[in-house]
Amino acid sequence: MIAAPALAREAISRLQAAGFPAYLVGGCVRDTLLGRTPGDWDITTAARPEQVEAVFAGARVIETGRKHGTVTVLLEGLPLEITTFRTESGYSDHRHPDAVAFTPSLREDLARRDFTINAMAWSPEAGLTDPFGGQEDLEKKLIRCVGDPMQRFQEDALRILRALRFSAQLDFMIDPATAAAALTLRHSLALVSRERIAVELTKLLCGPAARRILVEFWEILAVPLPELAPMAGLDQRSKYHCYDVLEHSAAAVEAAPPEPLLRWAALLHDVGKPGCFTLDEAGQGHFYGHPKRGAPMAREIMTRLRFDKGTVQRVATLVELHDYPIDPPVEGQNAECKPQNADAIRRAEERAVRKLIGRLGEEDFFRLLALKRADSLAHHPDCRGRVAVCARIAALAREILAQPPCFTVKDLAIDGNDLISLGYARGPEIGKTLNALLEGVLSGALPNERESLLAEAEKRKQC
Ligand code: ATP
Ligand code: MG
Repeated sequence: MIAAPALAREAISRLQAAGFPAYLVGGCVRDTLLGRTPGDWDITTAARPEQVEAVFAGARVIETGRKHGTVTVLLEGLPLEITTFRTESGYSDHRHPDAVAFTPSLREDLARRDFTINAMAWSPEAGLTDPFGGQEDLEKKLIRCVGDPMQRFQEDALRILRALRFSAQLDFMIDPATAAAALTLRHSLALVSRERIAVELTKLLCGPAARRILVEFWEILAVPLPELAPMAGLDQRSKYHCYDVLEHSAAAVEAAPPEPLLRWAALLHDVGKPGCFTLDEAGQGHFYGHPKRGAPMAREIMTRLRFDKGTVQRVATLVELHDYPIDPPVEGQNAECKPQNADAIRRAEERAVRKLIGRLGEEDFFRLLALKRADSLAHHPDCRGRVAVCARIAALAREILAQPPCFTVKDLAIDGNDLISLGYARGPEIGKTLNALLEGVLSGALPNERESLLAEAEKRKQC
């Protein structure tokens, strides 16, 4: 029994009452059987698009892909994608079927679907229709093509990435024959549109088993992301690391919160490393300058995958700053440091935090901390000290954010006009003085209050 929303049931009974068999199908059946909440409710039916429209006359209908048999019906705001049973054939471009034909057979419709777990249908009357062993594969936690995997991936290369994506999302293994075909045919992914690749990659990266997929299937992923290839197997020769660069990046992905920007930044944070590797006399590996080298690479990759400019910029910035020391390297920084030293450290940290919040904004500042934390967690187990530093900096940032804001010159309690009233000449001196006052506020040496800032400006004018 599937606990479908009442409106989805109503849609099915309306179609059935008009004489057309209708079922829930695909992702919603799979997710419901798994006890997960489906993202959307898809219906498959023997009714042709015009017949669907007639059944739902009066409701809002969007012609999503009418030619291919799909219309979206909005029932009290719930969008239901209703698709006519169909078969597909041809696929000469390895992307789209050359021909789509409607069929009266549910089985034929299920046979065109990608994986057994996505090829099940359900209706209140008929119960589950599962001609390819989808339920058994759900129990075995297996991603398996419907039919011959070589043929199915040749038809539509995107399915190769979808196999990896479902495996990452559900933490299912990929059936050996399906995995082998995916590997063999990986180069056909070059034919798939970059937007579609980006959608699947983002879902993959946000999945709980993304790390395993990255490590196990990097050769497939290196078709759309060739920059991964030199990361694989690159021994870091460092006491801080127990993984090669790709394994480390995959571990960082897993340790980062499952949110697209952060997961992409985690995947790409060390993409500059292969081009920066040096060995010192002691045989220790170093990657000097890798964040600076990696940032434009990340920008290139995200642009290539057609991400919007804002996303590209933010991921590139996170990559560039992932090694930026928010806690300044000060002598005696640990528990035994002297009180005056602790004060100096706190001031320096406060200044760094304010500056970064001013540059990145609050949201991306915390993203950067999350990335640094994930990076640290992906180091050798004995070298994860920065996790605690990140927690301390996050607490400090929250304290600072609870105070009235001061991160840029604009947030100062005085402005250029005040300086002019004090007798400053218009011109560069104004900007310089405001910046000097900001430095004072950022480091905690000056309160961001009008009186104190005016007094300080007055003092500076006299020097
Ligand atoms: P999600 O929860 O991510 O939406 P989903 O299984 O619903 O997962 P969709 O991309 O929404 O995935 O596709 C809906 C259904 O259409 C799938 O369950 C599958 O049956 C079928 N399908 C989608 N893409 C393909 C494809 N490239 N080849 C074959 N069948 C596909
Ligand atoms: Mg779906």
